[in-house]
Amino acid sequence: NISLSGIKKNFGSLQALRDIHLQVKSGEFVTLLGPSGCGKTTLLRILAGLEEADEGNIRFDDSIIFSAEEKRNVSPQKRQIGMVFQDFALWPHMTVFENVAYGLRARGIRKGLGERVTQALGDVQLEKHASRYPHQLSGGQQQRVAFARAVAANPKLILLDEPLSALDAALRVEMRILLQKLVKKHGLTAVYVTHDQHEAMSLSDRIVVLKSGEILQTGAPEEIYRKPVDENVASFIGHGS
Ligand code: ATP
Repeated sequence: NISLSGIKKNFGSLQALRDIHLQVKSGEFVTLLGPSGCGKTTLLRILAGLEEADEGNIRFDDSIIFSAEEKRNVSPQKRQIGMVFQDFALWPHMTVFENVAYGLRARGIRKGLGERVTQALGDVQLEKHASRYPHQLSGGQQQRVAFARAVAANPKLILLDEPLSALDAALRVEMRILLQKLVKKHGLTAVYVTHDQHEAMSLSDRIVVLKSGEILQTGAPEEIYRKPVDENVASFIGHGS
């Protein structure tokens, strides 16, 4: 389980996150949904340890991985978290195999490295492309490498920041299905960022709607769709949009 409490983050005078409280259960698929600039990416980066909150704390299972008060901030590599970014963030000078291996080495994993990489590439049906370079792959294939890299180290939690937005519509549907399979197979907890309500509705156990650094509503997709708390949520989740 992950528990964020009292998370605040300012950039100068801008309040990017204002007192965020959020619990994510083990195995749950939670989507952060909201318009551009609402703080989705900042919240994800804080969870990953790539950004430090000004206030609040984050508990991950039995340990506190961040506490502003105690000045505790566990490094990203030690958080047992996998990340997938919008632009895939693959190393252009490394092969597919090396890209996945790099992620494992960065976490200090040396044992059985080759097998783990091969297994992760198998999960995304890319074994045959192990020795290719990213520019020799399609967008969908590059995205699969990014998924493989994120799951290879057996994280408990996967964080995904608009991972499908660079792909065309048909491919997005295919990749959603692959993502759901991967999450299930690895028993992952997932926090997914998007501004696409269809993606949020189809993937999530629970949706968290954000606006201007605040949570407007959390609930199951149907619940949010049927009973939006206000017009902001309604407009974002499909009613009137
Ligand atoms: P998008 O969907 O466009 O990616 P978002 O909901 O992910 O938006 P964030 O990227 O979290 O939003 O940004 C929240 C607010 O904080 C925005 O107003 C953004 O301009 C600001 N912001 C984010 N990072 C920084 C930074 N490093 N320095 C200054 N301002 C920042």
